[in-house]
Amino acid sequence: MAATVTPHKLRLIGTEETFSTPAYIDAYMKLAERDKSTGVQYVRLLLQHNAKWLTDLDYRLSEMDQSGVDMHLLSLNAPGVQVFEPEEGSRLASVVNDEIASLIQKYPERLCGLATVAPQDPVGAVKEIDRAMGQLGLNGIIINSHTQGDFLDDPKFFPILEAAVRNRAAIYLHPQLPPDSMIKPFEKYAMEGAIWGFAAEASLHAVRMILGGVFDRFPDLQIVLGHMGEGLPYWLFRLDQVYRLLTRLKSPAILPLRRLPSEYVKSNFYITTSGMFWNPVLKFCVETLGVDRVMFSIDFPFERCQEAAEFMRNAPLSDEEKRKIAHENAQKLFRIKTPW
Ligand code: MN
Repeated sequence: MAATVTPHKLRLIGTEETFSTPAYIDAYMKLAERDKSTGVQYVRLLLQHNAKWLTDLDYRLSEMDQSGVDMHLLSLNAPGVQVFEPEEGSRLASVVNDEIASLIQKYPERLCGLATVAPQDPVGAVKEIDRAMGQLGLNGIIINSHTQGDFLDDPKFFPILEAAVRNRAAIYLHPQLPPDSMIKPFEKYAMEGAIWGFAAEASLHAVRMILGGVFDRFPDLQIVLGHMGEGLPYWLFRLDQVYRLLTRLKSPAILPLRRLPSEYVKSNFYITTSGMFWNPVLKFCVETLGVDRVMFSIDFPFERCQEAAEFMRNAPLSDEEKRKIAHENAQKLFRIKTPW
């Protein structure tokens, strides 16, 4: 039997912790002056309301201290640099990644971070992945789901996935608003964001990657989904059931895969707890995916560190399971160095 972990000693690494930089916010506000689409204006408001919490390091550290969160794995706010012109996107990505690296250098015991990339510029994105994972020593990659309506099963993005695998960098597939081709029916009751649209779009993206054979091509690619897997764990049985049926019916659009859809979810995906502090779902995900595939996250500053930390400490799991979810799985996947 492992020694009992007293609740306040459970080390916590939050793996979906949003930050921003004045340079990014500035560039985004300029974009929002010329682009009046629902998506861009939604993010403009979000940035305006949260600019202080996204950029103020002292506020972040004091929230972490008060709630006993040891580390934040930083990532730039959605939609990141993915809405800009290709060259501008890559230029901004470098600026942001330099900023993350310098924040980590300042607080190596409290911060680690994911590299931002501009998939709309595949050549630049590959270079930036190599630089961020090499020279800058960042811990993985964040991609805010679709890039201007295109998904990662599109072969034009394969060099990016190849670079991620080569650098042993997991890709955090973070939600953003559905693309123009999808957003309309969500708009009526403000459904396009965190209440439903984010998960609908991110899960669509994940299933496209699975059924598109991305993981047959890149068996070592690891994708991280927030919000307890964006609904995917709940759907494993039916994915397999209907995949078998469509294969039997020789549905023209179905591709032959080496494995069943659920098997890719269990071997190529991790999920995190961001904004879903609910024991029934936690227990279900641990049971369906295994405790090694679940990681703690908050979704700071949109969710409170305190609520997330209490949820994790009081989770109805063994101490060993809690340690894996709270920090051990993240330490391994993102190669996070900790002083403890
Ligand atoms: Mn988030």
